Amino acid sequence: MSEITLKGIPAAPGIVIGHAYIFGKEDLDVERQGISEEQVPLEISRFEDALIQTRQEIIALQKKIAQEMGSEHGEVFDAHLLVLEDRMLIEEVISKVKKEKLVVDFVFSEVLKRYASVFSRIEDEYLKERISDINDVGRRILRNLLGKKRKGLADLEERVIVIAHDLSPSDTATMHKNKVVGFVTDIGGKTSHTAIMAKSLEIPAVVGLEVGTEKIKNGDSVIVDGSSGVVIVAPEPETLKKYEVQEEKMKGLTATFISIKDLPAETTDGKVVSLAANIEFPEEIPSVLQHGAEGLGLYRTEYFYMNRRDLPTEDEQFEAYKHLAEAFGDKPVIIRTLDIGGDKFVSQFNLPKEMSPFMGWRAIRFCLARPDIFKTQLRAILRASATGNLKVMFPMISGVEELRRSKELLQECREELKARGIAYNDKLEVGAMIEVPSAALTSDVLSREAAFFSIGTNDLIQYSLAVDRTNEKIAYLYEPTHPAVLRLIKGVIDAGHKSNIWVGMCGEMSGEPSLALLLLGLGLDEFSMQSASILEIKNIIRSVSYVQAKQIADQAMELTTGADVEAFLKGKLKELLPAIYGN
Ligand code: PEP
Ligand code: MG
Repeated sequence: MSEITLKGIPAAPGIVIGHAYIFGKEDLDVERQGISEEQVPLEISRFEDALIQTRQEIIALQKKIAQEMGSEHGEVFDAHLLVLEDRMLIEEVISKVKKEKLVVDFVFSEVLKRYASVFSRIEDEYLKERISDINDVGRRILRNLLGKKRKGLADLEERVIVIAHDLSPSDTATMHKNKVVGFVTDIGGKTSHTAIMAKSLEIPAVVGLEVGTEKIKNGDSVIVDGSSGVVIVAPEPETLKKYEVQEEKMKGLTATFISIKDLPAETTDGKVVSLAANIEFPEEIPSVLQHGAEGLGLYRTEYFYMNRRDLPTEDEQFEAYKHLAEAFGDKPVIIRTLDIGGDKFVSQFNLPKEMSPFMGWRAIRFCLARPDIFKTQLRAILRASATGNLKVMFPMISGVEELRRSKELLQECREELKARGIAYNDKLEVGAMIEVPSAALTSDVLSREAAFFSIGTNDLIQYSLAVDRTNEKIAYLYEPTHPAVLRLIKGVIDAGHKSNIWVGMCGEMSGEPSLALLLLGLGLDEFSMQSASILEIKNIIRSVSYVQAKQIADQAMELTTGADVEAFLKGKLKELLPAIYGN
């Protein structure tokens, strides 16, 4: 077999090399078998027993997971328990057994298949995600009806890379960390529960590979690069060597970097910057703190609105933001208000399909049009601001009117809370994200009305270069080092500093080692990134003087193409830290 390289969606970072274990679908097909009238009550009671047994199993599993991984992870199983109480499903099975006089195992498996096929055709993302809950519970019930014991991932004896079409949350949650060293699924997205669990278990994972279970066989040698989303099957000796070296290097680096965890991100001549983390889920807090984050530079609150039927209430949001504020103590926590639309979808809003969603009704535009939803969030943020060092920022600001209108609504919320006698921090800092070229070009104006800026380069790059950030066909044009992007960034930092406000960056650019010297030299005050990159960036900052970084930035700004800038910066990094960035 010759080497195959497959590309999926990076779900949890890291490199792992091992043998594939195909975690296939069990054969739960059941034969169609008739029964007599007298057997009907017996079949129904078998079904009821299986439901009770399944319920007990799920509750036990939920307890175990909550103890081992925290109660939020246990909550995943609440949805499973709800499936067990689904009267429609239960009554359909019972009435079919009565009417069609068939064994309950068969009737149940048919009903289950029908549910799966109906749900897979529904366009609603929320309902689609419920298929895995229904399938997961359904298979448990069926196993109990058939009296089969399942060989789970917890029973594995060797260290393996699990390859599956899909993994249910309960599969992932029972993965024994030392045995399952990586996993790959055919389906799933970055925000599926499975991917979240992988991240918090720190198991490298790739999802959405589409053809994994087709191309990979049990026992195949596999490399999973969870950082880039690449999976290599049957690697040639040279590829294996390359990744082994990379894996070893990463391990070595992690050990080196951990020694600077509690030291400041300070240049050799005393310039200190702040290194913060981006998160999507509060579950990431322990890992963020472990990686030495000095606060949160971006909490993407839209994930709070996903995977649910209703909208989060003010109280519910208040509790969540308060939890974050308390977890970080004095360290700043920046809550980014709802940034929905573009490639982020929330089923409850029923957003219309648009021709150009990234340029459409998203983020602050949506929030200003729906003050009911926006103000609920703003009140929750204000209330939580009394419990810690919270700041708030607005996404997709394209001009000063949007910033003013957002601040007006925030002011209305303050007054409402005051009238209700509820405490909030009157000095809550309000920032603007700079991710639209029009905002970058008017950052001098915006800087007079914002307490800080956070540059959202993921969007700023796509808008300034007219390159859809999700389109793989034009990905080669998506260049963070393009002179146009660098000029916008420099302009924003300079405008911010002129008005005496600090300027951060929460786009992926700020966690990119080769860009750290440039951004430092341009005067960026805060770098916010995926927490796993924090110590590497800190190491670079601690290795250089600010004077030197400024010179590097000046030279980079003189170059005329993105490729030249990139090559120049990589060269400088190599000169500075040859042991890490040399070949
Ligand atoms: C950005 O655009 O850089 C950003 C941080 O926001 P998001 O990636 O959530 O659009
Ligand atoms: Mg953005």
